[in-house]
Amino acid sequence: MNINSEKRTPIHRIDHLFGNDIWMKRDDFIPFSFGGNKARKAALFFEDIDRGRYDCVVTYGSSSSNHCRIISNQCAKRKIGCYIISPKEHQETTNNRLMMKLFGAELIFSELDQVSETIESVMDQLRQQGKKPYFIQGGGHGKLGTQAYVQCYEEIREFEREQGLFFDYIFFASGTGTTQAGLVYGQLQHGEIRKIVGISIARRNPRGREVVIDSIREFDPLIDMDRMEQEVIFEDRYIHSGYGSAGDEIKSVVTDMLVAYGIPLDTTYTGKAFCGMKQYIAQNVIKDKNILFIHTGGTPLFFDHLQTVFDS
Ligand SMILES: *Cc1c(COP(=O)(O)O)cnc(C)c1O
Repeated sequence: MNINSEKRTPIHRIDHLFGNDIWMKRDDFIPFSFGGNKARKAALFFEDIDRGRYDCVVTYGSSSSNHCRIISNQCAKRKIGCYIISPKEHQETTNNRLMMKLFGAELIFSELDQVSETIESVMDQLRQQGKKPYFIQGGGHGKLGTQAYVQCYEEIREFEREQGLFFDYIFFASGTGTTQAGLVYGQLQHGEIRKIVGISIARRNPRGREVVIDSIREFDPLIDMDRMEQEVIFEDRYIHSGYGSAGDEIKSVVTDMLVAYGIPLDTTYTGKAFCGMKQYIAQNVIKDKNILFIHTGGTPLFFDHLQTVFDS
């Protein structure tokens, strides 16, 4: 596969840090709705939506969801309805939530244990009204989400080929697992030896790792399971006390990266993962390697955290 270099997100070397050459792929620069991995995934979902002439979208996510911001932005651009099922428990006024409202998304609140019923009933109601709704799983989970990161892997290979270098490690924040599934699938297709390390931002093992494995198997049921399972490294040691929680170490990594390199990381995803990468490098005594960190976006969260985490 050849990818037009204009369509690739940039990769740049940050510095020799933590004993290694650290590079960053800027998926936060994807030029739609503050970018990020949800923008990369959404681009493929909306190709499908446009092709199938769907006239509204139903999806799921909390008030801080980057996915829901981008889906509602894509819907608003097309002037089609956007229905967001959202857990009652997470209703903070975040930048993402404010934008969902600005885009005119309809929010439907649900108890956590009634989410699938609520989704079903919203889909049914829309069909009864003569609409053609398209459903996207939370976080852009599913085959197209995985596909988006197989493509990202191809971009990384193209860059390596052009620059004559090889990344021994790739790190990033892993949540619902499709970002990781796509990257690992790309690696398996080419039989390359490197470590792709997803830093969990919430889920524990064995579940977190199994979800990644299931996504790869769903994407390609004929995959060699033994080889694939060896390649899925889902690190759950750097979660702190769960989704959104951040200790002092994460805060200082976020501050340092902003001060020294002007790079915004948020404390829920990219900052937690960058901090996890730093600890992983130290714990595994990794030295003098080329390491790529994927900036998966979340810039609106960076601004939330500036207020709620740093100015308090
Ligand atoms: C959703 C998200 C992730 C996690 O991606 P998954 O594909 O769900 O694993 C990482 N970083 C940011 C900024 C996100 O919004």
